[in-house]
Amino acid sequence: MNPSQNAPILEIPTPQGIRAFLSRTPLNIAFHAGGDSKECVEHNRSLCIAPFGLSSLAYLNQVHGKEILEAKSGGLLGDGDGILITQKHLIGLIMVADCNPILLFDSKHQVFALLHGGRVGLQKGIIPNALAQMQVRFHTKSADLFAYVGPSIRACCYEVGEEIFASPSGNTLECGRISREGKIYLDLTAVILAQFQEAKITHYAFSPHCTCCGEGYFSYRANPQCGRFGLFAHLT
Ligand SMILES: [Zn+2]
Repeated sequence: MNPSQNAPILEIPTPQGIRAFLSRTPLNIAFHAGGDSKECVEHNRSLCIAPFGLSSLAYLNQVHGKEILEAKSGGLLGDGDGILITQKHLIGLIMVADCNPILLFDSKHQVFALLHGGRVGLQKGIIPNALAQMQVRFHTKSADLFAYVGPSIRACCYEVGEEIFASPSGNTLECGRISREGKIYLDLTAVILAQFQEAKITHYAFSPHCTCCGEGYFSYRANPQCGRFGLFAHLT
């Protein structure tokens, strides 16, 4: 057996200037899901981010919106679905189990955003909102960006109802619609890719992994009582 398969974290290949990694099952890194004690979750988070301490970890109360909060210190930043980080001593965390964890890294200006990209947040425009903030505040250009999309539920497993396409901004989902054997499936990576292309982002990577039918990551659809895994990142 390859020992790396048992590692609690998976390093993500990125451009220089940032480190990003995923936590894996059985480590639950969320207080709000999975039913683990506060002590257990803190222990799991510590394992993931060592040698950094927990006071360096910036995270959100994720609410399926498009608000982006800049981390000035570690800890719970508030309600939102995106974290902006410019400081080297801070680690950002987005918690997911089927939703898309997304990294946007501006290597030129040494700033990054971590986003919680579920269907609803993507419809609300969390990606363009994050990009707009990075452009206004840091003069980020598409050519300077690297984007990464982590493991999430994919079109193999993400069966949806017709009504989601009629919801507000539901037309943004049409490019991810897949009809198969009389059912409708949604490919959110196609929706994200379309948004990247709209923003003229050309340097990106998508994890090939489906959380629902693959191993190693929590999936809410496979088990609604599950914990959450994390996409973590810090400047180097
Ligand atoms: Zn699947």
